[in-house]
Amino acid sequence: MQGRIVYREIKADILIIGTGAAGLRAAISAYDSGARDIIALGKCKWGDAHTILATGGINAALGTMDPKDSWMLHAADTIIDGGSIADFRYVNLMCRDAPRAVMELVKWGARFHKEPDGRVTQRFFGAATYRRACFYGDQTGKEMMRVLMAQVRKRRIRTMEDVFIVSMIASGKRVAGALAIDFFKGEIILFRAKAVVLAAGGYTKVYTRSSSRSYENQGDGAALALELGVGLVDMEMVQFHPTGMIYPKQAQGILVTEAVRGEGGLLFNAKGERFMGRYYPEKMELGPRDVVARAIYMEIKKGNGTKHGGVWLDITSMPKAKILERLPKMYRQFKEYAHVDISKQRMEVAPTAHYTMGGVDVSIKGETSIKGLYAVGETVGQVHGANRLGGNSLLETVVFGRIVGREAAALAKRQDFVEIDRKRALEEIAKVDRFFGKGGKPEDIRDEVRRAMWDHAGIARDRKTLAAGLRKIEKLERRFRAVRVRPGLKGNSDLKIAIETARMFGLCKAIMQSALMRTESRGAHYRTDYPKRDDRKWMANIVAKRSADGIKLGVRKVPTVTGPVAYYIKHRPKVEVKLLE
Ligand SMILES: Cc1cc2nc3c(=O)[nH]c(=O)nc-3n(C[C@H](O)[C@H](O)[C@H](O)COP(=O)(O)OP(=O)(O)OC[C@H]3O[C@@H](n4cnc5c(N)ncnc54)[C@H](O)[C@@H]3O)c2cc1C
Repeated sequence: MQGRIVYREIKADILIIGTGAAGLRAAISAYDSGARDIIALGKCKWGDAHTILATGGINAALGTMDPKDSWMLHAADTIIDGGSIADFRYVNLMCRDAPRAVMELVKWGARFHKEPDGRVTQRFFGAATYRRACFYGDQTGKEMMRVLMAQVRKRRIRTMEDVFIVSMIASGKRVAGALAIDFFKGEIILFRAKAVVLAAGGYTKVYTRSSSRSYENQGDGAALALELGVGLVDMEMVQFHPTGMIYPKQAQGILVTEAVRGEGGLLFNAKGERFMGRYYPEKMELGPRDVVARAIYMEIKKGNGTKHGGVWLDITSMPKAKILERLPKMYRQFKEYAHVDISKQRMEVAPTAHYTMGGVDVSIKGETSIKGLYAVGETVGQVHGANRLGGNSLLETVVFGRIVGREAAALAKRQDFVEIDRKRALEEIAKVDRFFGKGGKPEDIRDEVRRAMWDHAGIARDRKTLAAGLRKIEKLERRFRAVRVRPGLKGNSDLKIAIETARMFGLCKAIMQSALMRTESRGAHYRTDYPKRDDRKWMANIVAKRSADGIKLGVRKVPTVTGPVAYYIKHRPKVEVKLLE
């Protein structure tokens, strides 16, 4: 790029960044609301979005198995188990619309499991009062993607793959477009759009161990918004799943489903002790996700961990035939990666970052503080509060995807393209130039950032560790300024990693600073120096924004729940912990 910058300009009324479930549903809705000039793009191949990893199900109070279920109870479960800091207006909207959203998927051909009489089967998920998760085997996300992609194709919506958004462009307080690199073709693209939807996923990959794949959930959506001055909410709220693979290295973090424990799998430390009795004697291995994750973490920290830094999960009491019938994916996963036959040998597991509740601060219609810029899906915050219920994130993508697509279409109809200062826009892309030089290895520093996050802002936090972590991140950021990669765009994966890593620093600081500020424990956020929940002070969301001196934090009170859901919050039937899926 040194010298004159050559680029291709593409204009579209609506640009959707992300082709996971949220982006696809937004594209369909924008089209159905009258927009025709839409581009939906992803940085990976068409159809290969993180959503395909989703296994267990999507929630909706259909009441097919438990007729007493209702959207109000679904909302109450979501608010209570989200540590009461989710915005109840967003939660109500999502839960009320859930049956329609799921039946729409069925109408479009989703092959959710059905009872012999044709009712959609629903199964339990952790902390849900009734059976509410609709599923397609252990491939619910993949099935949703199949159906949504077919609907996008049917409408002939333009899609692009392998296009990596490098930065957003705004003109004053209005969005104007985005700059991208097509690493496949080796070209720069300047997108101009009236409305832009960020549907770029979450940020678990700022941690060493994450249940996402290495090339996604890097926090691009939140980072792109942060760079434009948009607020990020509750960034400290990161859900750690108790059981991820720990060995071999290339399998680190891959999810080991809760169903293993639901089917009778037992947890042991390296000394052979079934340690859950010390942490949650009532339900042992079937305690809530955050409790079991913390218990495993404590055992490892106490020195009771295995050679690779995990604990043992043992399902060998189950006959092989039953394992093959009930846990086929787990059987294959351990055989393939670790050469372990789980019907004969124990699994080595440890907690893994699984979902990010925090994200872009949006209105109930998905609007950000930049006009024309919307965000949806795992990229946003506020819907799950301090803890996400299994089955609610797939739901969020389709409910809010529909709303955001409609809003973007309405805006595109009444607004014209914003004039952009091309010179300034191209200066943005020229910043990429700074990475070019004698080829280095940006992943080394990226891995150190991830390690620092894991060690300092992981499952258990305290003031001293967080403050030291923040200093480490700042130091790594300074070191990163000297990182160079070989010049060129085509197939330059080092450049891609360098850009992704550069973005992580802002997010990591927002996570650390928010975690330092929240002097209490709530949901996924556990402070050893403030182990109790403090409702007097912290029924609040923390909003992080970029400023000239770094990340600035603000605090916003959570609105008080009113209406029928308030009743269900007080009078929720006793919740049984049923973590079978
Ligand atoms: C192992 C696993 C199991 C899960 N199981 C369940 C479940 O059973 N039920 C449930 O409700 N949830 C589940 N989840 C969570 C759920 O899968 C996600 O929250 C959800 O799929 C997120 O969808 P999304 O559309 O917001 O983002 P994603 O599916 O992550 O899509 C993001 C898109 O943005 C694109 N993108 C990102 N950055 C850029 C960039 N810079 N430029 C261009 N494009 C970009 C990506 O290429 C991709 O197309 C699970 C998650 C995991 C990891």
